[in-house]
Amino acid sequence: KLSQDVPGQNNEALTATLNKVEDFLQPFRLSVEKLREVSARLRKDFIRGLGKHTHRRAPVKMLPTFVRSTPDGTEKGDFLALDLGGTNFRVLHVRVVENLQRVLKMDSKICPISQEIMLGPGEQLFDHIAACLAEFLESLGLKDLTLPLGFTFSFPCEQKDIDKSILVRWTKGFNCSGVEGEDVVKLLREAIHRRGDFDISSVAMVNDTVGTMMSCGYRDQSCEIGMIIGTGTNACYMEEIKNVKRVEGEDGRMCINTEWGGFGDDGSLRDIQTEFDVEVDRSSLNPGVHTFEKMISGMYLGEVVRLVLVKLAQEKLLFGGELSEDLLTQDKFKTKYISQIEDDAAELDQAREILLKLGLPASPEDCEIVRMVCSTISTRSAHLCAAALATIVNRIRTNRGLDHLRTTVGVDGTVYKKHPKFSQRLQDAVHVLAPKCEISFLVSEDGSGKGAAMVTAVAQRLAMQSRL
Ligand code: BGC
Ligand code: MG
Repeated sequence: KLSQDVPGQNNEALTATLNKVEDFLQPFRLSVEKLREVSARLRKDFIRGLGKHTHRRAPVKMLPTFVRSTPDGTEKGDFLALDLGGTNFRVLHVRVVENLQRVLKMDSKICPISQEIMLGPGEQLFDHIAACLAEFLESLGLKDLTLPLGFTFSFPCEQKDIDKSILVRWTKGFNCSGVEGEDVVKLLREAIHRRGDFDISSVAMVNDTVGTMMSCGYRDQSCEIGMIIGTGTNACYMEEIKNVKRVEGEDGRMCINTEWGGFGDDGSLRDIQTEFDVEVDRSSLNPGVHTFEKMISGMYLGEVVRLVLVKLAQEKLLFGGELSEDLLTQDKFKTKYISQIEDDAAELDQAREILLKLGLPASPEDCEIVRMVCSTISTRSAHLCAAALATIVNRIRTNRGLDHLRTTVGVDGTVYKKHPKFSQRLQDAVHVLAPKCEISFLVSEDGSGKGAAMVTAVAQRLAMQSRL
């Protein structure tokens, strides 16, 4: 059995309340058997996603990335990188140094993107991106160089090649018109040409999971999985090309972007979705889409907690039955509060302060309950990620006919990195769910920035080799 934080037994009245609270939290606690079932379901969805005739309607897209090789250490050069779709939009100038096992970030700049741009016309978004690049190059005096560019674009894309990438759909907080179904590289180049004051050479399109895998691959050659648990969630891994029915070839491997966030979009996770998950989905930008992601990632975890707290207050189990306007407002309970509230070092002070800021004077018992809610929901997230990661490592192991697999996962994302207990819970659970796999976790050093440059550098090396 996987450990879960369960209520302490301070006094009888509290125990009675906690028991009632527990009834509401029970549906979030998934047994090992249930997690095994979830992992097995995802395994079937992987196969559907990889199949030639089944992939079109598959909820888990299993997108070929055209990344066929992890770094071999001979890559080098100067690159630009863009990182769109995580917490911040950034532009970077990166240098890859041969043999040194190093990728140097020379300069970078965060460019804020307003809500208006995130939800406006696509042309406006790409004009903004081009403008940020121009300003960045200007400030570095690089405007006259024509550099290759790695574009970390953290959304599901159907790639036809490393530099041809059609957006399947927006996720997370984005919903720009006129981009779905279009080639993102073309939209970027058009925006740059509209300005006419600088240019770029080759472009490599990179999902953030792939950048994460590649940036760790430089340090650890056995890194063949990339995982993100941040604003959104997703993972990629090296699959045998012969299993990727949509791509020609029998030999070698290709990195597959699983887009596991879409798991459950055909209703396959109904048995574990709670009433709160259903509500989070209903009031999201993209109802019915990315069911799994909405139970796991930073964009939604705070919202799940908020809805549970509202329910408990309405049931008079919290805050003496009082509600505040903030607590009743969508997205007011930030996912980072969960990390702060669960931080043992802070005892319950953090909880009290955060709740007060939300207009909720909380008793010590209230704080205890809120912490329990946070811990239950973040634990479910970690356990679901573990089930999905177990599917990947078990698949790699059987692909290679191994009895025992040793592998490394490159990881990134605010939830994984900032939550005080997330990574431990995740690792404990994967250990139970994939006992024949020995997994090292490597926190990526800026996979979305340096990793994108690395992918571009590898693509360049391969292109040069095939020209020889
Ligand atoms: C996107 C993925 C991305 C993940 C993490 C998801 O919403 O669909 O492409 O890798 O978020 O950023
Ligand atoms: Mg990122």
